[in-house]
Amino acid sequence: MLARVNSFARALLSSLARRALAPGALFGLLLSACSSTHQVSAQSGLDVHTFTHDSINTHLLVAKGAMVMVDPGYEKNAPALEQDLRDAGLDPALVKTIVLTHGHADHAGAARHFQSRFQARVVAGQGDEGMLSTGKNEPLCPTGFLGRWRHAEDEGATYTPFHADIAVTEPLDLASISGVPGRIVPLPGHTRGSLVVLAGDAAFVGDLFRGSLVGSGAETHLFMCDVEGNKRDIARLLGELGPGAKRFFVGHFGPVAREDVADFFEVPPRE
Ligand SMILES: [Zn+2]
Ligand SMILES: [Zn+2]
Repeated sequence: MLARVNSFARALLSSLARRALAPGALFGLLLSACSSTHQVSAQSGLDVHTFTHDSINTHLLVAKGAMVMVDPGYEKNAPALEQDLRDAGLDPALVKTIVLTHGHADHAGAARHFQSRFQARVVAGQGDEGMLSTGKNEPLCPTGFLGRWRHAEDEGATYTPFHADIAVTEPLDLASISGVPGRIVPLPGHTRGSLVVLAGDAAFVGDLFRGSLVGSGAETHLFMCDVEGNKRDIARLLGELGPGAKRFFVGHFGPVAREDVADFFEVPPRE
């Protein structure tokens, strides 16, 4: 397969060549860029619209006339996201279910906007209720240079507190609460309340891992306190939890194909 070099990577490489800036500084510039993008991926009866603001992906699952939003993003970007939906011909008032893969500010902050304005029900892991109710991230553990460089800013990000309408402690049928066929599965690790959404051949994994800046591979997320435990969780996701998952929609960059996830995290094929 030909390596895909995305626009972020092109910007990164050309800026490196021109200005010899440190990679961390450029990564920060990329993360703080305000541009928004919209991509659509359709397969097996499930359309996935991905809207990206400040390098945070918001995924909108559309199936059987119902919609589920996964990770609305930073609070400050909520109005822009609402406008993105309208521009894409999607009525934000019809998004009745929002699933937060976890309670970090870059994923959860904008949920309150849709909850209060459109009465969307917010679904989050019980273990992250402490972050939602205070609007503060719990301590982050950097996994490398980029995480260390971004640590203070990312850990210090905040949002207006709110409460989830549904606090998840065990697997939950997505169809019964939203009309979109699928499952919500707790997979603690990145945070105590981290969730994964499985729908059709797609998995929405938040920060369980991230997409690579260059190409279409998977990489360890910038912040993870138990890296070995993270590998075991990913093997479990590819195995017992999501054996049919082929497309992995991540919180940052991506999406990533199953074989690329298995390659990077050295998950052996299933027997
Ligand atoms: Zn996170
Ligand atoms: Zn994130």
